[in-house]
Amino acid sequence: MAWRFALMIDPVDAADARADYADTFTALDPAAPALTVGELSTQRGDGIFESIGVIDSHPQEVAAHLERLAHSARLCDLPTPNLDQWRAAVALAAAQCGAGEAVIKLILSRGVEHGPAPTAWVTAAEASDFTRARTEGIRVVTLDRGYALDAPAHAPWLLLGAKTLSYAVNMAALREANRRGADDAIFLSSDGYVLEAPTASLILRRGDTFVTPAPNGGILHGTTQLSLFEHLDAQGYETVYATIPAESLGAADAAWLVSSVRLAAPITAVDDAPMPVDAALTASMNAYLLSPRD
Ligand code: PLP
Repeated sequence: MAWRFALMIDPVDAADARADYADTFTALDPAAPALTVGELSTQRGDGIFESIGVIDSHPQEVAAHLERLAHSARLCDLPTPNLDQWRAAVALAAAQCGAGEAVIKLILSRGVEHGPAPTAWVTAAEASDFTRARTEGIRVVTLDRGYALDAPAHAPWLLLGAKTLSYAVNMAALREANRRGADDAIFLSSDGYVLEAPTASLILRRGDTFVTPAPNGGILHGTTQLSLFEHLDAQGYETVYATIPAESLGAADAAWLVSSVRLAAPITAVDDAPMPVDAALTASMNAYLLSPRD
C-alpha cells in the first residue's frame, strides 16, 4: 500500500473555535515510527476511527463521517471532537491524495498511559483496487455474533454501534468466512436477525423497495448506506429500515454489502445459496458512489 500522508493532531476542546488549526497539526513521515509504546489504542484498542473514501482528492461524505466520529466518542466517553479541527485535517490529507481512489483514516485514541490524552492522527493512503468485488460480486456466509438484538439497550458498555479500534473480532469473522470459501460475512444476532458485515452495511432489494437492518440493533449506521438511500429515494424507490429475520435473506431479489472504500459489492451467494445479481443497478449505484458527494 502506498502511503500519501500522515498528520498528528493535538486535539483542542470542541468549544475552542479558531480561524486556523494549523498550529495543532504536525506532519509526519507516514513510513516512520510515530506512536509511543504507551499508546492505549495499540495496547487495548481503546479508541475510535473513521475511514473516508477519497475520489480524485475529493473526500466523500465528510460531514456524515465526522458526525459518526462524534457519536462514537460519546459512546466511548472520549472528549467531544472539535469537528472544525478534524475537517481541517481531512482537507489537508485529501489535498495529498492525487488522482484515483484513496482512503483517509481518522483515529482518536484514549491517549498514552501516564501521558498525553487523548491522542489523535489522520492518515491517507492509496486504496486497494475493488473493481472485481464491485463488478463480479462477493460470496458471503452468515455468522452468529453472539449478542441478542436488544443487547445495546441493556448492555451499553459493549459499545455496539461505536466504530471502535477493537476490530479483532471483525477480522476473525472475515478469516472464518474465507475458511468457509466465502469473501465476506453477515453477522446475525443470537436471536436470529440480520445485522451487518464486519466492515460494511447490508442492503436488500425486495421489488422496488430497498431494506437495511435498523441501526438500533447494535450496528454501525453506515455513511454509504445513508447516502445510497438518499440517492434511491430521489430515483423514486422506497427505502426502509427494518428488523430482518435471517430466514428472509434468501427471499431478497438482490443484496449488496456497501462501505466507504469498497463501495457497493453485489452478493452472489449467501451460505452457498445463489443470490440474483442486478449488474446494471449495481453499476449505477457505484457510478453514484464514485461521483463527488458531500
Ligand atoms: N459496519 C461496520 C462494522 C463497518 O466497519 C463499516 C465500515 O467500515 C460499515 C458498517 C459501513 O460504514 P461506511 O459506509 O460508513 O463505511
